[in-house]
Amino acid sequence: MPRKMNKKEKEDFRKQLAAKKESIIRKLSQTITESKEMESNVAQDLVDKAETSYTKEFLLSLSDGEREQLLLIDEALKRLEHSEFGVCQLCQKEIGGKRLEAIPWTPYCIDCQEKAEEELKAQ
Ligand SMILES: [Zn+2]
Repeated sequence: MPRKMNKKEKEDFRKQLAAKKESIIRKLSQTITESKEMESNVAQDLVDKAETSYTKEFLLSLSDGEREQLLLIDEALKRLEHSEFGVCQLCQKEIGGKRLEAIPWTPYCIDCQEKAEEELKAQ
């Protein structure tokens, strides 16, 4: 069984995840405003909505990598609430502390991640 995280550790991860999420959303609003493809109030509206739920327009305006990361962050936040955070979603083993610190939103342990990447390369 993976060790239980204490309240403080959980809170730290929650803060890290929330900050990362906010930075993706903010970066996006900047990109939209700078490109002037959209009125800035429309861009702001999109960002405001993104704080609670993602509209199709919002998701479409993200790059694939950002969209994937945002969804991973949301899933990690859900796992934190259900005390499943830090457990590999494939093999159910504990994800290493260093790995979690570097990539708190990762759903997989290093072994499963490497296996998945090898399989992708083999395709
Ligand atoms: Zn694993």
